[in-house]
Amino acid sequence: MHFDIITIFPDFFTSTFEYGILSRARATGLVNIAAHDLRSFTHDRHRTVDDRPFGGGEGMVLKPQPIFDAVASLGIAAKSERDPKRETVILLSAQGRPFTQSLAHELSTLDRVVMVCGRYEGVDERINQLLCDREISIGDYVLSGGELAAAVIVDAVVRLLPGALGHPDSARFESFGADDTALEPNTADTPPRTTHGAGGILDYPHYTRPADFQGIGVPEVLQGGNHDAIRLWRRRMALRKTLINRPDLLENTSLSRQDLRTLDEIRWELEQEGNRTP
Ligand code: SAM
Repeated sequence: MHFDIITIFPDFFTSTFEYGILSRARATGLVNIAAHDLRSFTHDRHRTVDDRPFGGGEGMVLKPQPIFDAVASLGIAAKSERDPKRETVILLSAQGRPFTQSLAHELSTLDRVVMVCGRYEGVDERINQLLCDREISIGDYVLSGGELAAAVIVDAVVRLLPGALGHPDSARFESFGADDTALEPNTADTPPRTTHGAGGILDYPHYTRPADFQGIGVPEVLQGGNHDAIRLWRRRMALRKTLINRPDLLENTSLSRQDLRTLDEIRWELEQEGNRTP
């Protein structure tokens, strides 16, 4: 897979991808990441990439021509001729569609992803209309530039590439794991067969040694060898975390009858603890 990042700060990416999974994926040729300096595609003495906004107002706007020329230099097909199953050009923008795990999965199936990083007040809108296939936001907040957003997307996508993680199941069985094939079907009344939060909910809490840290012990169930009990506890904790922190996720996930009963119990427990939940 190949990522091209168009930016006025290519040096931002010099060390960003030199750690852990990303570094290994690059070393083994699983992914190739190139940052391109937008200023190399200007034609004036000052290497100007921005200009004042039409209509007045604060700040500057990135001009369309250097961005067009930068993307053209990559040999990417024109927007109307692009194969959406192979390549995509993304505009990073606070106004974009939210970046999610399922979008990360979708991008991980492509051969090539080009990302345009905005700066200042943003990018001339014609870049969005004529050059980019999608506008993506990494969250409901405003960053100073698209570079951090590009790094977030590269990281989330690369760890989904087959061979990037030590164990192929690691990416399936974690928070937001859309893969619920290992879960009992909706109607099941039995304990979940898996030990993870898959099926679109959050992961369960993890513990390692020591068994006691500053007076807080590791839950006893995790120290025994009863794997059914561990699976049930982990599923319960994943449901509890999701109910407290991201109740919206529970609306689009497949829950067994056992899950629904567990959720009722958790709601009752939280009420007793004085916490109101949805
Ligand atoms: N005027 C813009 C607005 O209010 O939506 C904000 C521009 S921001 C200061 C500069 C650049 O940072 C944007 O063009 C975009 O590339 C990037 N950016 C800011 N927030 C982002 C987000 N949440 N997700 C992705 N990119 C973002």
